[in-house]
Amino acid sequence: MKDKDFQVVVITGGSKGIGRAIGVKFARPDTQIYFNHYDSDDKAANETVGLIRDMGGNARASRVNVASLDEVQDFFKEVMEQFGRVDVLVNNAGITMDTLLVRMKETDWDRVIDVNLKGVFNCTQAAAKIMIRQRSGRIVNMASVVGVMGNVGQANYAASKAGLIGLTKAAAKELAPRGITVNAVAPGFIDTDMTAALPKKVKEGMLAQIPLGRSGQPEDVASVVAFLASPEAGYITGQVIHVNGGMYM
Ligand code: NAP
Repeated sequence: MKDKDFQVVVITGGSKGIGRAIGVKFARPDTQIYFNHYDSDDKAANETVGLIRDMGGNARASRVNVASLDEVQDFFKEVMEQFGRVDVLVNNAGITMDTLLVRMKETDWDRVIDVNLKGVFNCTQAAAKIMIRQRSGRIVNMASVVGVMGNVGQANYAASKAGLIGLTKAAAKELAPRGITVNAVAPGFIDTDMTAALPKKVKEGMLAQIPLGRSGQPEDVASVVAFLASPEAGYITGQVIHVNGGMYM
């Protein structure tokens, strides 16, 4: 996305899994990566910073709850004080609290919607205000195959990801006149801590639905995010790009 010497890439939930792979993918001497995380201690985040630096990149990490508008606004204020611009925002942070609809507690619903959907609104609004002034920017939102297919035990998660797709399209239309693109990537079944927690039977059931016959790797998703943030993707906005081994066509 750059026509200048230095770009600033903000990634939410960059301490592990897909967010970490995205950070590593963007690692370059001319790119400043600033990512956040929330629940875990700083060990995983520090490892990600180390991996990015090993690749010749620049990275910083902060503990920020994307569901909190105040924390998100402070985070973007700090990014601006430190680096003066935001070229790419990747809204990657996400959680699951799976259970059947009839057993789902109000707190299970609220927490997942707060992080996965309100968190994306909070960060997109903060970044958009900066990008509008720049008259350039790229926003990539992490959806899920579950947001288009639905899934047993994931009413809250499916609703959050379907909502995120609507938010992506609305934001794409609003921000296009300012030279900002907004797209979503919808991964299928990717090997991370999020899927490692699933029971063996559920994993086998998921794998049986994948024509390519294997789960995906975080890097499979990261390369699509990097493409959407690149100059080559300048005419793509409001799209949902599926990365799922053919699980949903
Ligand atoms: P993961 O390994 O569990 O990593 C989630 C990341 O989000 C961590 O860095 C976590 O940091 C951060 N995070 C969680 N809550 C946060 C909050 N409130 N504020 C800021 N950061 C927060 O998950 P993943 O599998 O890489 O998933 C990444 C994204 O891809 C999610 O949006 C997920 O829904 C989506 N996705 C994943 C799959 C899959 O198969 N893995 C499929 C489709 C979509 P802390 O632990 O420090 O909080």
